[in-house]
Amino acid sequence: MSAETHKTHRAPETLCVHGGEEHHGTNDSLTTEISQGSVFVVPNTDELRKYAEGDSKAYLYSRYANPTVAVAERKIASLEGAESCLVTASGMAAIMSLVLSTCRAGDEIVSMLDLYGGTTHLLQDTISKFGVTTRFVPYNQLCKIEDYFSKKTRLLFLETPTNPTLRCVDIAALAKLGHQKRTCVVVDNTFASPMLQRPLESGADVVVHSATKLLGGHNDVTAGALAGSADWVEPAREMMKQSGGCLDPLAAYLLIRGLKTLGIRVERATENAQEIAQFLESHPKVSRVFYPGLKSNQSHEIAKKQMSGFGTMLSFEHKGGGEGAEKFIDSLQLWYLATSLGGVESTVSYPFLSSHVGLSPEQLEALDVSPATVRLSVGIEHAADLIADLKQALERS
Ligand SMILES: *Cc1c(COP(=O)(O)O)cnc(C)c1O
Repeated sequence: MSAETHKTHRAPETLCVHGGEEHHGTNDSLTTEISQGSVFVVPNTDELRKYAEGDSKAYLYSRYANPTVAVAERKIASLEGAESCLVTASGMAAIMSLVLSTCRAGDEIVSMLDLYGGTTHLLQDTISKFGVTTRFVPYNQLCKIEDYFSKKTRLLFLETPTNPTLRCVDIAALAKLGHQKRTCVVVDNTFASPMLQRPLESGADVVVHSATKLLGGHNDVTAGALAGSADWVEPAREMMKQSGGCLDPLAAYLLIRGLKTLGIRVERATENAQEIAQFLESHPKVSRVFYPGLKSNQSHEIAKKQMSGFGTMLSFEHKGGGEGAEKFIDSLQLWYLATSLGGVESTVSYPFLSSHVGLSPEQLEALDVSPATVRLSVGIEHAADLIADLKQALERS
């Protein structure tokens, strides 16, 4: 059975387990093995010549390509429905490889103000030094996003749902506009995962992942991925080879292992998140809940249109302001204070002192973040235990 058959006929849950992996030979390990070597033996100069002429699929050196890393790439490609996938040392390495391979000095990028902080810094502080300018569109100006494009725009970089207030943008509509403007349309799909949202099916060209989050899922591996058409992913692969952001084979193995349970993890965590959102919405110490699965949420309709579930992340505002939020966080016993997300463990983060530290009151207002904002990454524990802990911490705060 070829990988192609898997791609077209199997459900995502099955692809999590089997996608990109074929073990049909005698003495083949059922589990993908860790090919830990940094270099591979070339049988003779004829083979080396073929490689030099681009005519060999042999592995040469692990920064260029590695069998274990290649399995992680094929699995993610199958899940996103992508022609091509590049796995990297982190989400940031994936984003940098894509930006450097698509843009040159004088080019422009259109993106959103509601962007993962690391991406904002990369575009604003580093990529700008190479003559590439980014225009960040505030969420309430997205209806006028066309005004932010120019003839020099090469990339439309979107993120949905966003951190930490889970705002969603219409991928299909923006992809259409991006293509009219002849840009490469990129979606950071970290918060949804391919289990809930497949941006390529909505018209995006490339999907970006911090595989450190839901894809890895166990808070034990840092990794990133790009998936999409080969026209965009293969030049990014060349850039990764030059800039060195390759993934270690052991990390690739952990990523593959994490991906096998992605379907079941996301399903459970999403159910938990919905229950928690409803609990928080009715709690007297909570003034506002941000979760696209709530009918009251501004992104509910968009999320319903382009996602098959509302996700594992939510945020809320504590009625007691910054003081209440801090007391709440410090009273939790089951939810750890940790700034990452998407793992099996439920965690809490405090954007005001972490991802959004140092932003001006105006910037915070545009992002709908305040000292009262608490972000929750919902894990796969029993919902009743998670809610009981939230309840006791709310009572103490
Ligand atoms: C964490 C994160 C990144 C960066 O990924 P790393 O693996 O930490 O490099 C990018 N985008 C989003 C939405 C993230 O949450």
